[in-house]
Amino acid sequence: MRKPIIVGNWKMNKTIAEATAFFAGVEGELHEDAEFGVGAPFTALKDAVGAAKGLFVAAQNVHFEDSGAYTGEVSLPMLLEIGVKWVILGHSERRQYFNESDEAINKKAKKCFASGVTPIICCGETLEQFEAGLTESVVRRQVAACLDGFSVDDVKKLVIAYEPIWAIGTGKNATKEIAQTTCAIVRDEVAVHFGKEAAEACRVQYGGSVKPDNIAEYMAEPDIDGALIGGASLKVDSFLAIVNAVKK
Ligand code: PGA
Repeated sequence: MRKPIIVGNWKMNKTIAEATAFFAGVEGELHEDAEFGVGAPFTALKDAVGAAKGLFVAAQNVHFEDSGAYTGEVSLPMLLEIGVKWVILGHSERRQYFNESDEAINKKAKKCFASGVTPIICCGETLEQFEAGLTESVVRRQVAACLDGFSVDDVKKLVIAYEPIWAIGTGKNATKEIAQTTCAIVRDEVAVHFGKEAAEACRVQYGGSVKPDNIAEYMAEPDIDGALIGGASLKVDSFLAIVNAVKK
C-alpha cells in the first residue's frame, strides 16, 4: 500500500517569520493517513526544520556537487547539516527559467539517494505539447531520462510529481481523468525500466491548481498517490482544508 503524500511547494514565498507562523498554525492539525511536507525557500529551511511538527521540510533545488565554484548554489552536505532530507527537483519553473535539464535532474537525484535524501522529481508537458497530443511521449521521455541509472531500491522510495505546465498557477486544473491517465503513464514508464514491483511502490503525485475543493477527486484515482500544491499551500486555512480532505 502506498501512503498518500501531500507536499506544499512554497516557491519563492515566505520569510522565516512567515514560515514559522505557518508551522505554528498547522501544529496538532495533521494526521497519520498521509505523509505531509512543504518545500521552503533556502533561507527559511533551518528554522522550518526546527518548527515543523508532523510534516517534513523539503528544499526546492540542490546542486549535484558537494562544494566548489558554483556561485549561488547550495549543496547536499549543506542541506543535511540543517536536517533537510527531501528535495523537490526539476520543477517546471526551474526547467523553464533556469534551463534545468533532465540530465541535471538525474545527476542531482542520484546524489540525493547517495546522501539519504529523497527527491520529488517533477515532470509535465507544456500547453503546446498538450494540445498537440504529445503528453505521453514528453512525460515518458522525461521520466526515462530523469531516472536513468537509478537502482530499484531508489525507485521504490522516489516520488514523481506529474504537473502539466498549463495547470500550474493558472487555476486551470487538469481533469481527474487526464491526471489519472498521465500518472498511470508515469507509473508504466517506471515499470518499463525498473519492473512492476518498483513501479507499484513509487509514489506519483498530481500537481497543478490543486485546491481544497478538488483534492478528493484526484485522491480517489488509483494511480494518484498525492499532490504537489503551490498556491493553496501558502495559507494555513487552505493547507489544512486539504489535509482534512485526505483524512480517511
Ligand atoms: P499551483 O502550483 O498549485 O499553484 O498550481 C503547483 C506547483 O507548481 O507545484
